[in-house]
Amino acid sequence: MFEYVAGAVVDSEAELTVIDKKIGDGDHGTNMALGFREVRKELRAKEFDSVNEVFHCVGMTLLDTMGGASGVLFGTLFISGIVGLTPLKAIDLAALAKIFQKSLTALKKRGKARVGDKTMVDAVEPAVAALLEAAAAGQPLAQGLAAGAAGARAGMEYTKQCVARFGRAKSFGQASLGLEDAGAVSVSIIFRAMAQWVQQ
Ligand code: ADP
Ligand code: MG
Ligand code: MG
Repeated sequence: MFEYVAGAVVDSEAELTVIDKKIGDGDHGTNMALGFREVRKELRAKEFDSVNEVFHCVGMTLLDTMGGASGVLFGTLFISGIVGLTPLKAIDLAALAKIFQKSLTALKKRGKARVGDKTMVDAVEPAVAALLEAAAAGQPLAQGLAAGAAGARAGMEYTKQCVARFGRAKSFGQASLGLEDAGAVSVSIIFRAMAQWVQQ
């Protein structure tokens, strides 16, 4: 699944560059493509004994290759959720929802951003809420991930109404209104790809 996600992010480089150029420093597409190209390579080359190891590999690779604030934040999205978790041989919706819930908590703690600050948090939080709700309703993974992807997308769209309070976009102030946050777009791409892969 994450090989497919990595491919989707790599294919979105140009789109992400355009967005981060408008209200950032224009490096988000390059950063994400660099990180996820390496993720794809690592996932193809290595063997994993647990779901946890897969998450760890994705997060550590992003942390090591992307660098900067976004490397830490996207690394956190994949690493923090599995810290202290018993090794899983398989993943279901409830486990996936719990992992990303924990990651969201760590992401907010690390970056200090909350919903409405026009960051990736705006997309992660509704995605996690949708995953948890679907899991509580006993839905299958494909359906839950479709809901998660819809949540991420809605959160990404919501960033258009927000004024940036973090990252490079902060200096654009009111000028950031009407435009989506690049990191939120990336999160939306990631969850959409997860949903697509499971559906296929
Ligand atoms: P940089 O800002 O260093 O150029 P990128 O352009 O790769 O890094 O990533 C910027 C994205 O990182 C933003 O669009 C935003 O979603 C996310 N981001 C930046 N700062 C924070 C923060 N403090 N908390 C959460 N997300 C953040
Ligand atoms: Mg940038
Ligand atoms: Mg930068």
